[in-house]
Amino acid sequence: MGQKPFLPRQPAAASISPRGFQTTSIAMDGNYRAPLKEMNFVLNDVFDVESHYKKMEHTGGSEVDSEFVMQVMEAHASFCEETLGPLNAVGDEHGCEWIDEHTVKTPPGYKEAYDIYVEGGWQGLSNSEEYGGQGLPYSLSLFAADMAATANFTWTMYPGLSKGCINTMVSHASDELKDKYLARLVSGEWTGTMCLTEPQCGSDLGQVSTKAVPQEDGTYKLTGTKIFISCGEHDLTDNIMHCVLARLPDAPEGTKGISLFLVPKRLVSEAGEVGELNGCKIGRIEDKMGCHGSSTCEINFEDAEGYMLGEENRGLNHMFTFINTSRVGTAVQGVAAAELSYQGALWYAKERLAMRSLSGKKNPDGPADPIIVHPTVRRLLLTQKVIAEAGRSMVYECGLINDERLEAEARGDDANAKALEDRLGFLTPILKGFLTEVGVEAANMGIQVYGGHGYIKSNRQEQIVRDSRISAVWEGTTQIQALDLLGRKILLEGKLKPINYHCSLLYKDCKDLMFSGASSSVKSHAWRLLKETASLHFNTYRIASKGQSNRDCIGLASQDYLMVAGYINMGHHWLKMEEAAAKKIASGEGDQAFYEAKMKSAEFYFENIFPRVASHKLTMHAPINSVMSMKEEEFSFDHAL
Ligand SMILES: Cc1cc2nc3c(=O)[nH]c(=O)nc-3n(C[C@H](O)[C@H](O)[C@H](O)COP(=O)(O)OP(=O)(O)OC[C@H]3O[C@@H](n4cnc5c(N)ncnc54)[C@H](O)[C@@H]3O)c2cc1C
Repeated sequence: MGQKPFLPRQPAAASISPRGFQTTSIAMDGNYRAPLKEMNFVLNDVFDVESHYKKMEHTGGSEVDSEFVMQVMEAHASFCEETLGPLNAVGDEHGCEWIDEHTVKTPPGYKEAYDIYVEGGWQGLSNSEEYGGQGLPYSLSLFAADMAATANFTWTMYPGLSKGCINTMVSHASDELKDKYLARLVSGEWTGTMCLTEPQCGSDLGQVSTKAVPQEDGTYKLTGTKIFISCGEHDLTDNIMHCVLARLPDAPEGTKGISLFLVPKRLVSEAGEVGELNGCKIGRIEDKMGCHGSSTCEINFEDAEGYMLGEENRGLNHMFTFINTSRVGTAVQGVAAAELSYQGALWYAKERLAMRSLSGKKNPDGPADPIIVHPTVRRLLLTQKVIAEAGRSMVYECGLINDERLEAEARGDDANAKALEDRLGFLTPILKGFLTEVGVEAANMGIQVYGGHGYIKSNRQEQIVRDSRISAVWEGTTQIQALDLLGRKILLEGKLKPINYHCSLLYKDCKDLMFSGASSSVKSHAWRLLKETASLHFNTYRIASKGQSNRDCIGLASQDYLMVAGYINMGHHWLKMEEAAAKKIASGEGDQAFYEAKMKSAEFYFENIFPRVASHKLTMHAPINSVMSMKEEEFSFDHAL
């Protein structure tokens, strides 16, 4: 392998020379270290990506072997560690600067990093060669994005949003629009945005009021205000493609009357020359809690020229191509927060001396023991570790399922493609909702490990909390993910089929392990997972039944339900990893200490984190009156609200 155009196009900074994989390493400078050994384990020992890619014959996988995968990851790791990581603090400190309504300056170094990224061909890694991409399977770009997001989530938003724009255009743009715009998005010459939110609505896009008026030449004139638009203006590229939700003049009300438009910042001539400014004016950039390096813009569209993507009034459906790309990208942010925070906290916990171990001195020659000896500090570190490692596995699995979906589509196997799309539709809210919640929690734990030094800016732990907090809000808040999972995907549209299917997969995996020659710990974890899966299955029917008399019961249960589904899914991944590690130990091959640690991490997960399911189950079934009986005026007697 190695014949792909990808390899010769590496930037100098991204060396592909082989090096030993490192474990999650000590990050005393707060900069990211790519956990290549972890990635190698998940990709090869848990998922056997080489066999997976062999089956991706129509989508660029047939020549991809595991050595090639790791070469690509090593090359990207160098870029992430050397270029993106050091910019993380710079972006936070400098933020973006609004110059005028068409000009926003990104932090120092952002443009240079972006140029290296573009030169390396990274943006089009998984896009079709037809548009100048590398033509490799989708999942490779997701694995690469995991590293970039951890090194510097804020910078990664610029190319990340472009990917959503590219996917949306590939699925919904006319051939004419594709020919004119796609190659320059795929190369990274231009970036893209998603423009959904308006001052009066974010979750409830049925209230979108931006207008799109048809013109005689087939274009549209858009007028309206969008707020909170990430990367809405910047100096990384000379043009930006906005994907905008708007209404035609006589469109029906609500979500059924929304169409999707491509609106360039600068108009592009037939010959492809970038010309005059379109009517997209930046009112302001937000002064926000974190992600300072990403410009969050108010964009006022004033008779801006736009082109319809897909069909009239089906814009929200089409936009879901973008939204789903971004939701998986946001799930990665949860994993990234846990990983980056863990890397710093692990170093600190080994260095910082405080008090003595209750079970006897561990550092008798020093004035005190390192804090890593204390059980409660260990629990913080291990929680971060198990969330990062299994979260990565959960995200990668979705990447591989998406490869299969794209392959089925390319083969013309529509039934299988639809089944895989439904499976992803089920998993995406779990990943987005659950992994961002536990990712933010893990980042918060990093501050706790550092004590007062975690609250101080120079140790860079507090930045992770500020940057990642938004992950549970944007791309649909956790509450919205919970409603999407339980209300829409499982009950309303799925008529319980998605949960039946999901549980059947887990039952099978657990039973196979319980009746195999697996170790006693694997068998015992499989049994516990089986029991909780059965309980989740039963509880779904119980909520469905309660919802028939009062739909608020579904809303109330939904967030705990999402968390239970998340802990079970994470447990499933710990089981897979434990089994893979146990096999390696039995074979005596490879780094035995690494696999032993993996077994211990699985044990920690099932003994310390998995029991959280019990408390979520209790609140999932809290009587509806305990929440809904309070009258609005009873919420407060002290304020005249
Ligand atoms: C930094 C940043 C970047 C952003 N980037 C973009 C971007 O690039 N493009 C874009 O279009 N938007 C973007 N957004 C907007 C973001 O997606 C929205 O803020 C988010 O979806 C929530 O919408 P909202 O703020 O209007 O809150 P609201 O919709 O007003 O919700 C307020 C609260 O009510 C809850 N709620 C609402 N309805 C329900 C319900 N039915 N059941 C239970 N709870 C409910 C919500 O969960 C939330 O807790 C960004 C926002 C920020 C802060």
